Amino acid sequence: MKSQGQVKNNANIMIDTATALELVLLHGSTLVKTIEINLKDALDYVLAEHVISSMDMPPFRQSAMDGYALHTSDSDTYALVGEVQAGDNSNPDLNSGEAVRIFTGAPVPNAANVVVMQERVRVDGHTIKVEELLIANMNIRPQGEQIKVGDIALTKGTTIKGAHIGFLASLGVTKITVREKPSIAIVVTGNELVNAGTVLSYGEIYESNGAMLTAVLSELGYRNTVVITIKDDYERTKKILGETINNHDVVIVTGGVSVGDYDFVGKALHAIAVQEVFYKVRQKPGKPLFFGKKGETAIFGLPGNPAAALSCFYIYVYPLLKRCEAADQLNLLSILMPLLSDYTVNGDRAQFLKARMQGAGVEILGGQSSAMVRAFGDANALVFLPEHTSEVKKGENVKTIILPNK
Ligand code: AMP
Ligand code: MG
Repeated sequence: MKSQGQVKNNANIMIDTATALELVLLHGSTLVKTIEINLKDALDYVLAEHVISSMDMPPFRQSAMDGYALHTSDSDTYALVGEVQAGDNSNPDLNSGEAVRIFTGAPVPNAANVVVMQERVRVDGHTIKVEELLIANMNIRPQGEQIKVGDIALTKGTTIKGAHIGFLASLGVTKITVREKPSIAIVVTGNELVNAGTVLSYGEIYESNGAMLTAVLSELGYRNTVVITIKDDYERTKKILGETINNHDVVIVTGGVSVGDYDFVGKALHAIAVQEVFYKVRQKPGKPLFFGKKGETAIFGLPGNPAAALSCFYIYVYPLLKRCEAADQLNLLSILMPLLSDYTVNGDRAQFLKARMQGAGVEILGGQSSAMVRAFGDANALVFLPEHTSEVKKGENVKTIILPNK
């Protein structure tokens, strides 16, 4: 094991958000295996090795226009001697003063040194008159203009998106080597939780953290998450957590991490020798956030309140997952944006506030309670306000963390 043995947080001292994130990233395993997969299945995987281009792209001099390819001469009149369509391999020979009709994407004959767009040409039977000043190689995409054989097409650490798949497909790539996704389990706890589809009895609520985190993980490309529900029962919590931690790379527990009499998660994790890296962060929401390790498995104890669980997911779990895959970009992107209205902070802790970027500014939304996930649906960002901020004024720049897939 690495350094985690030395890192211990005094339970009475809450750490700050930056330290918490640092500790999470320090403990993210990078031992996740690499696998070769089909390019078409590679969306959201992190590239484990550079992809080197095996070809020039374009592979031949290519017409960028529908028009005429010319072997230039001093005259503006050219004899039309043929045609080259996209996909043709005729490569007709042209003497000076001769032209062929050509189309976008077609190979420009070796003997041609200019393509003129059709709008700049007057056609008269088998003769064309060019009404444009000619510049060598105009409207011709040179061979290898986009990439040359042997060059790096995509660097290791890139999280693969649709455009990357398009580019690699254009280079004839069919398989790539990526980091295996960490296997993730979500464990939801609480006697009050009932699955949707059943009638609620008095005191019960519908379980929603499992559904929400599964969906958010899936949006981010983690599509094989399992959800396990446990009641507030110490022995059962210990047993299930022990098994789940043994079988997964990342375990996300929600609820039961607070200080209530029936919050058994902390005690159970301790009993099964999960090493606490930190517990409690000076933040709102998510004060009782727990992070620990057992072997290479990372364990998060997120608050049960859905909005707090989701905030903690984006701020701490997401970077850990990216770290496990050795991605280049670990945290969500953030920018400074001016606030659209004044905001008064309640308390001293750092804040992650559901917010909406609109136009050139960002609006902090209503419904910030940890229990209310509704505003998250409207949010496309989290505004971060550091500890001890008492108020922020309209027009002031605030750190705006951009939520993915919004
Ligand atoms: P806890 O952290 O267990 O004290 O839970 C805090 C609050 O979040 C309580 O109101 C719980 O009922 C609620 N809660 C906990 N887990 C879930 C869940 N999986 N889905 C919806 N609400 C939850
Ligand atoms: Mg609970």
